[in-house]
Amino acid sequence: MKKTEHDQNWSIEDSLNTYHIERWGEGYFGISQEGDLCVYPSKDPHGPTINIKDVIKEVQQEGIGFPVVFRFHDILRDRVKNLNESFRTIIKEADYQGQYMGVYPIKVNQLREVIEEITDIGLEYNYGLEAGSKPELLTVLAYNTNPNALTILNGYKDRDYIQLAMLGTMIGRKVVIVIEKLSEIHTVLELAEFFECEPILGVRAKLNTKADGKWSESSGEFAKFGLSATEIVELISILKQKDKLHLLKLFHFHVGSQIPDIRSIKECLVEGARIYANLMEMGVGLEYFDVGGGVGINYDGSQSNSFSSTNYSLEDYIADVVYILKDICDLHKVKHPNIVTETGRAVCAHHSCVITKAFGEVNLTINQKIETNHHPDDHHLIKNIKECFHDLNEKNFQEVYNDISMIKDEITSAFKLGVINLEERSIAESIYWSICHNILNITRDKDYVTNEIKELKTTLSDKYLCNFSIFQSAPDTWAINQILPVVPISRHNEKPSHSCTIADITCDSDGKISNFLGPEEINSTLPVHQLVKGEDYFLGLFLTGAYQDVMGDMHNMFGRLNEVHIFCDDDDPTDFYIEEIIHGNSAAEVLSIMQYNPTELCRKVKVDIDSNIKQGKIKPRSGVKLIDFYEACLNSYTYLN
Ligand code: PLP
Repeated sequence: MKKTEHDQNWSIEDSLNTYHIERWGEGYFGISQEGDLCVYPSKDPHGPTINIKDVIKEVQQEGIGFPVVFRFHDILRDRVKNLNESFRTIIKEADYQGQYMGVYPIKVNQLREVIEEITDIGLEYNYGLEAGSKPELLTVLAYNTNPNALTILNGYKDRDYIQLAMLGTMIGRKVVIVIEKLSEIHTVLELAEFFECEPILGVRAKLNTKADGKWSESSGEFAKFGLSATEIVELISILKQKDKLHLLKLFHFHVGSQIPDIRSIKECLVEGARIYANLMEMGVGLEYFDVGGGVGINYDGSQSNSFSSTNYSLEDYIADVVYILKDICDLHKVKHPNIVTETGRAVCAHHSCVITKAFGEVNLTINQKIETNHHPDDHHLIKNIKECFHDLNEKNFQEVYNDISMIKDEITSAFKLGVINLEERSIAESIYWSICHNILNITRDKDYVTNEIKELKTTLSDKYLCNFSIFQSAPDTWAINQILPVVPISRHNEKPSHSCTIADITCDSDGKISNFLGPEEINSTLPVHQLVKGEDYFLGLFLTGAYQDVMGDMHNMFGRLNEVHIFCDDDDPTDFYIEEIIHGNSAAEVLSIMQYNPTELCRKVKVDIDSNIKQGKIKPRSGVKLIDFYEACLNSYTYLN
């Protein structure tokens, strides 16, 4: 396509920078020369390249409705491979004597296809699984069949949970029951004796060191899980008394997810390593040191210690784990343990994204033809706001803004008192919004503006309406203000001409995204291209593979999304093939979850239609069509067509 004058000075590089793709993409994402967003499954821009627009085209040809989750399996495999190989490399470099025996905590994304992929690629690394509840344990028992990989069981446990764990031990799995609460040990020992089974035990410690970030409550003395120093000592005494101390083989802590600052990770490692070394000195035969999860993702691309980012890389983290543990073990002259991580977010986040279509925009209509010249009959409030319109300049914009904000309030009061009428109010409000627009034009290139003017920018920006639900597909953006990268799928060789916020299709004013990656700080708007009538404009929400994929809810009865599973195929002209399409929820499925019986609903509506037919209000032929239509809607996707 020929570049317009507006786009002459715009390059792909500019787009990469505008959307900070290289800062959050970890090398998996880029932009083609044609301006389309692409995936590099092997992080190599010269290697296989999947054009997301091509995938969208194929999905449309298959008749699959949007929004759709795109799952790039090669990215998931690469993450597992990278984690394991980086540990192996650094362990070798450090001459560390233990091995890396990581587990994937399935709570991060429990979907079967994700677990199958992870266990498949994990086989060559003896990479295991972690469960934190009974249903998760039922899953890992069926899926972690490698007898050399660990199955780690965290979370509070009832008798059934412990019995299921013993079942795993009895069928030859390396199941570790992690004691999170001192009282659990009695049930574990009782059931072990009953089943004549020797389970591997672990203990989760409550570290005094508190990690920072949104999940800091997972650490510190008052954390919900884990044993205090006193309780750990008591646990050892109980095990000694029962002659079962040899069962305790794993030491564990988990201090929270998405830890932004490497300093708090180091401090936790030091405290954890000291406890491990002391336990070894006390005669406990520990074999595994489990540092839990917590490795953060650079969601906002800032590479800082902001809570949506990290000031370290995965490799920095691994080096700290290996070297800190080695140093402290050497100091105490105790064995280097095998290292276990329960890294979840950093394994899963990159592999999936949500593709949604912007189908419209909401913007403030400003009457361009409004009369701003003085009129002798003008009410003094209208006279004042017209004066502000004419007085506005580069120097007094803040003062004018303060004045018009006051006048606007006075106008509302005057209208409520019946002093001015609807027409006068409309004139005053139109002039108010015109002045606001002019203020934004004046301040566009200013380095500093007050918060009020910044907010004005958000208020006046367009809202792009997108066919998805924040509550289903990106719950953390709503719940904890998590930043997720949002990027147009194509037109990257055009300069984005608009700034917008994103509004979803739920009937909820919170169903919006108004925090986006910015050059230095968070921006309240996203640069986008003008919507063109008759042309699709797709946006992608990225890094949704961890937690977002599985934590969403059905607000407004918007159900699970259609999913497309994409594999790289270097021999295919498009470099990909779609291995599987999984249909999202139909309205009937969502209704069933909410305890409705779709057949019964259909019957009730049919009774009403029949009665209208009998009364002659609806023609029989139309009645049949209406009931067919109701039924078809029950069986269709919950999102907009
Ligand atoms: N391990 C435990 C015990 C957890 O509770 C969690 C989640 O918070 C994880 C591992 C995964 O953490 P992350 O996704 O931050 O790696």
